[in-house]
Amino acid sequence: MDKIAKTEDQWREELAPDQYAVLRQQATEPPFTGRYVDTKEPGVYRCAGCQAELFRSDDKFDSGSGWPSFTDAAVADVVELRTDTSHGMVRTEAVCAKCGGHLGHVFDDGPRDKGGMRYCINSCALTLESGETSA
Ligand code: FE
Repeated sequence: MDKIAKTEDQWREELAPDQYAVLRQQATEPPFTGRYVDTKEPGVYRCAGCQAELFRSDDKFDSGSGWPSFTDAAVADVVELRTDTSHGMVRTEAVCAKCGGHLGHVFDDGPRDKGGMRYCINSCALTLESGETSA
């Protein structure tokens, strides 16, 4: 996979302020505010930073957390997992493998019948491309 390397100035210019804060500065959007929290529309969720295909609507579920939640990434290795020890917690950070953008965190309290993972993702790190998926 070709990685994308841009300067922080380039990212700041290209992204909306809320997207820059999340993708490049590890911010978290307030719960229940993002545009995709309750979205059920079929389609593919792409990285708002680099358009890589990250998640599919088929894997989206209603977690009640206030953030779009998925049981898995669209393809293996598109979402990189890193240990995040910020804010006095040990969490697993989800990062776009292509552009290094922060997406959210991964927890192990997802639906048991679907692997048990919960990818808790910021809406503004994603762009939904509507359409039928062929998962
Ligand atoms: Fe990306």
